[in-house]
Amino acid sequence: MTPFIRVAVPVPTLDLLTYRVPTGLPPPPVGARVIVPVGARAVTGVVVAHTDAMPGRMADVAIKPFVRALDERPFVPARVVELAQWTAEYYAAGAGATITAVLPPKARGDRADGHKVRRVAALTPEGNLALRAGTAISPRQRDALQMITEQAEGVPIAELADRGISADRVARLAKAGWIHVRTETVERDPFQASGFVGPPLDDARRLTAEQRTALDRLTAWAAAAAFRVALLHGVTGSGKTEVYLRLAASVRRSGRQVLLLVPEIALTPATSALFHRAFGGEVAVQHSGLSEGERHDQWQRIRRGSVGVVIGTRSAVFAPLERVGLIVVDEEHDGSYKQEETPRYNARDVAIVRGQRADALVVLGSATPSLETYHRAMQGKYDRVTLTRRIHDRPLASVTVVDMREEYASAGPDVILSRALREALTDRLERREQAVVLLNRRGYSTAVFCRQCAGTVDCPNCSVSLVVHGVSPGTRRAQCHYCSYSVRVPQLCQACGGSFLEQTGFGTERVEAEIGRLLPVARVARVDRDTIRRRGALDALLTRFRRQELDVLVGTQMIAKGHDFPSVTLVGVISADVGLGMADFRAAERTFQLLTQVSGRAGRGETPGEAIVQTLYPDHYSIQLACHQDYVGFYDRELRFRQAMRYPPTVSLINTIVRAKTFSGAMQDAAELVARLRAASAGGSEFRVLGPAPAPLGRLRGEYRVQFLVKGKHRRHMREALMAVVASLPEVSRRTTVDVDPLSVL
Ligand code: ADP
Ligand code: ZN
Repeated sequence: MTPFIRVAVPVPTLDLLTYRVPTGLPPPPVGARVIVPVGARAVTGVVVAHTDAMPGRMADVAIKPFVRALDERPFVPARVVELAQWTAEYYAAGAGATITAVLPPKARGDRADGHKVRRVAALTPEGNLALRAGTAISPRQRDALQMITEQAEGVPIAELADRGISADRVARLAKAGWIHVRTETVERDPFQASGFVGPPLDDARRLTAEQRTALDRLTAWAAAAAFRVALLHGVTGSGKTEVYLRLAASVRRSGRQVLLLVPEIALTPATSALFHRAFGGEVAVQHSGLSEGERHDQWQRIRRGSVGVVIGTRSAVFAPLERVGLIVVDEEHDGSYKQEETPRYNARDVAIVRGQRADALVVLGSATPSLETYHRAMQGKYDRVTLTRRIHDRPLASVTVVDMREEYASAGPDVILSRALREALTDRLERREQAVVLLNRRGYSTAVFCRQCAGTVDCPNCSVSLVVHGVSPGTRRAQCHYCSYSVRVPQLCQACGGSFLEQTGFGTERVEAEIGRLLPVARVARVDRDTIRRRGALDALLTRFRRQELDVLVGTQMIAKGHDFPSVTLVGVISADVGLGMADFRAAERTFQLLTQVSGRAGRGETPGEAIVQTLYPDHYSIQLACHQDYVGFYDRELRFRQAMRYPPTVSLINTIVRAKTFSGAMQDAAELVARLRAASAGGSEFRVLGPAPAPLGRLRGEYRVQFLVKGKHRRHMREALMAVVASLPEVSRRTTVDVDPLSVL
C-alpha cells in the first residue's frame, strides 16, 4: 500500500509537499494532477512520487489528505516528471518553480475566431521601489508584486487568479499605482499568424558527399536506439538543416518521435518552415512567441500522442512526448538555451539527460560549438561529425579588419562607419546586393555625461548609466536596460546644474540614422528588441528583407543567427569588441561566436561575400581567429586560458549572488555563507570558494548584489554543500540566487 504522495505545486517558492491518500482510494499515478490544500487555498499540483513513510517526524495522521485527483492516468508523462525532478535537483531550484516550467500554459477565454484578448499586469517603477523598500506594504501585497516581477513582460491576470491573487487585489494594486494593467490581443494559429515565406522545399535535391556521410552515420546511430551524443560541427552554410530534416524523417519511419530545439523560433524561421512543410500536421511548435491558447493547444496535441515532431525553444525540452528517438539541439552554443531565472537550467544539458533516459540519439549542431561541448567531444564522450565545406563549395566570406584607432586619428573621434565600410555599402547599393550591419548594443547613444563635472546620468535603481533612445532630439528618453526606469533626457546636469550635457557612445539607432544620412536612397531597417516588440514585427521585417524590399538591415546579435539570405554579400560589424569589455570569463568565446556567425551570413548565394569588422582591438585572438574562421585554433587558445584561470569546462562552477538593501548587509550575509561553506569543506580540497566580492553589476533594481564562486571537480558535492549552507540561513536564502553552470557571472 502507498499511503502518501509527494506533490509539486506550481508555486515557485515551494518544494515537494506530502499528502495522505484517503483510505479506500487508489493513489493517483506519477504525473497525474491532484488538487491539494496549501494553507487556506486549494492548488492544482502534479504527483511526483509515492512513498510509504513520511519523511520527518510528523505523525502520519497529521498529514492532510489530498482533495481530489483530476486524472486517472498521467497528465504529464512520468518520464517528463522525472526529468523535471532531475532539473530541480541539478540546478538547485525548487520543485515548485520547475514544475511550473513543465506544465502547459493555461488556456482561457479562447474564442472561435482565433483571437482572444487578455489583460496583463506589470510592475510600475513605483511598484518596483515599494517592493524593494518593503515599506508601507503588506506581506500579501508583497507576494503579489513578487509574482508579477517574475516575468519581464508582466503576468496575465488569469494566471494571477490561478495563483491565488484575486481580481480585487489586482485592482487595489493598480489603484496604489504599483502596477499597471494592459490589454493584449493574441492570435491563434502559429503558422497562419506568421507571414514568413521560406525557401522552396526540394525533395529531389542531392546531398553533398559530406552531408551524405554525416547523415549515414547519424542515421545508423539513431537506428541503434541507444543513448549517444553526436556533435554535428559544420561551418555556416554547410547544410546542417538538410541533415536534421532527413535524419528526422528516418526516425519517424521507425515510429519514434523527434524533438528539435532551436534558440528562438522567430530567428530561425527557415528551419521551422522546412519541417512544417516536410512533416505537415505531424509537427507541433512550442515557444514563447505563441499565445497561451496556441501553446496550450499544441501542448495537448503532443500529450495526446498525435504529434511526431516537436520544434521549440528552451522549454520545449520538457514537451510531453512519450517515445523520443532523436533530440536535435540546433546552434547548441546559443545563450538563449539557458534560462536566466529559476530554474536556471540549460536546455541543451537537460536534452542530453532526456536523451539518456529515452535511449535516444542527441545531435548538437553548431558552426561554433561551446567550449563545453567541444571539450567533451575531444575527450571522446561525444562523437564528432563534421561538415567542413559550404554547399556548392561556396567560399566563406573574406574578412577585412579595420583598426578604428587609425580611423579616429585620421577622421576624428565621431566616426561610426569606417571608410572601407562606407565604400562597400555604396558599392552594394549600386549592384543591388544586400548588406547586414551588426552592432550588439541597442539605443541611440549609450551614455549622457556632463562636460562640467564629468558626471553621468545613471539609473537610480541599478549601477549602470542610462541609454538614450529616440532619433529626434525632442522625443529622446534615457532608459535603463535592466529595470523599467526611464526619464526624459535632462537639460541640466543633476549633479552640478551645468548645461553642458553631451551624449557619448552609440547604439543601433544611431547606426541606422548614420547609414540613412550617408546613403539617402538606401532602404534601411533595424532589428533589435526595440523594433520587434510587436508580435509578428520580426517576421515582417525579415520577409521584407528576403523579398529585397530593403537594402540594409542594421541590428543586434539577433541578425547574426541562422538566417539564410542569398543576396547578402556584405556584412559590416561595428565595434566588434563590445562584449570584450565585460568582466565575464566567456567574453572571448561570445565574441568569437558572434563574429563567426555574422560573417557566415555573407555570400550564401552565387556571389561571394565580404565582411568588414571594425574594432579597437584588431589583435585580440577572438577577433583574429574569427576572421580566419579558425574554430580549432580558437578552442585551443581559449581552453588554455580556462585551464590557467580554472574556469569551465576544466572545472565546474556555481555562482551565488546575495542581494540586500545595503551593500554592507549583502556583504555580511555572503561572508557568513562563505565562512560556513569553507568550514564544511575544511579538510578536503574538494572545491574552492572565491569571494565574497561585489558583483560586476553591483546594484540592480534597487538592491545591492554580492557574489561568490564555487569551483571544483565534483559538481554534486559542491552543490550539496552549498545548498546545506544556504538552507541553514533561511532569511538569507530568500535573497540568494544559486546559478549552477552559469553562462555569465555578471
Ligand atoms: P547551415 O545551417 O549549416 O548554416 P543551411 O542548412 O542553412 O546551412 O544550408 C545552407 C543553404 O544550402 C540553404 O539555402 C540550403 O537550402 C542549401 N542546401 C542545403 N543542402 C543542400 C544540397 N544538398 N544541395 C543544394 N542546396 C543545399
Ligand atoms: Zn535600472
